[in-house]
Amino acid sequence: MNAVATALWAVYRSESFRFFRTAHQGGGYKMTASTFDEIRQVLREHQRFAILGHVRPDGDALGSQLALALSLQQLGKDVRVWNEDGILEKYSFLPRSELLTKPPATAEDVDVAIALDTAIQSRLGTVLAAIRSAKIWINIDHHLSNPGYGDMVIVDPSAPATGEIIFRLIKSQGLPLNHDIAENLYVAISTDTGSFQYPKTSARTFEIAAELVRVGSLDVGKISQQLYESHPRRRLELLRELLRTMRFEFGGRAASFSLTLKTAADLAVLPEDNEGLIDHLRAIRGVVVAVFFEELADGKVRVSMRSKDEAVDVCAICQKFGGGGHTLAAGARVRGSLAEVEGKVLEEIRGVLERKS
Ligand code: AMP
Ligand code: MN
Ligand code: MN
Repeated sequence: MNAVATALWAVYRSESFRFFRTAHQGGGYKMTASTFDEIRQVLREHQRFAILGHVRPDGDALGSQLALALSLQQLGKDVRVWNEDGILEKYSFLPRSELLTKPPATAEDVDVAIALDTAIQSRLGTVLAAIRSAKIWINIDHHLSNPGYGDMVIVDPSAPATGEIIFRLIKSQGLPLNHDIAENLYVAISTDTGSFQYPKTSARTFEIAAELVRVGSLDVGKISQQLYESHPRRRLELLRELLRTMRFEFGGRAASFSLTLKTAADLAVLPEDNEGLIDHLRAIRGVVVAVFFEELADGKVRVSMRSKDEAVDVCAICQKFGGGGHTLAAGARVRGSLAEVEGKVLEEIRGVLERKS
């Protein structure tokens, strides 16, 4: 980047940052601090990229990372694709999934580090320590709670998936888009919208999906089967145990279930096996808030929360416990025993439901 462009960019960015923070505090939803054109310029002018995603990755993080990595590779860039867990067994069907690895033990220098779908930088986990230096940090995400870390920021909470933002970046800037890229983006969008069901699914989402299917000649039936009808048996065994712990509170408006370390060990489940099981609670008539408590080995409890009512903002609840996410889907990791964390979190939910009614 030449000196004039750098100076202009710095001014623009600081203005945008002010706008970003004001909008965020005011509950606004348009929080784009950098433009796709600016991102494109940085992509063009640098060679070594690290594309990063959050711990305990989901289809949106993995699909977005692989799609952007493949597009940059087509441009002849040198791309690393890292996350703390590497590729998960259930997502190993993603085109070129072998590119996604755990970070190296020795830190590396890159020109540009790009964090995708990651609400707070600490959710990059061990990946953060693998970047010794990066000239520029780019943060592309759709979480309402994203504080806008990094040098260049595109946070659009109106997007149902980070994959949708990556698609718009690729399309608007004429970046490469082929079958493999299209399939990764389709998976990112399909998984984060709950198969095109959640409220942020818009006409634009379907238009993007249609274009991906067309451009990539995607076999939607096959992808859906790999995503939603190829679960290991132990996932259902886990669901059976979780349902034994299911309880309802506050007149049936809250439902929760819990997983102990012992049950997880007895069933030999992997962390990824429980992705989506909370949807069974949300799907119950009358339930407004669903909560999944998972005991972790580090003395914390992973709390996963879903809401069916915009007036019950689970992101705000999770932020009280140091977490974040979206209005209708959020999470946190809370120190304490399972019983302690269940008590504290349900008490907070009681307060929110009582204020509402
Ligand atoms: P999950 O319940 O793990 O599927 O997460 C729901 C949403 O909340 C996802 O979009 C996550 O990125 C976000 N989220 C989950 N846990 C945390 C956390 N500890 N801090 C910030 N955001 C989180
Ligand atoms: Mn995610
Ligand atoms: Mn996402």
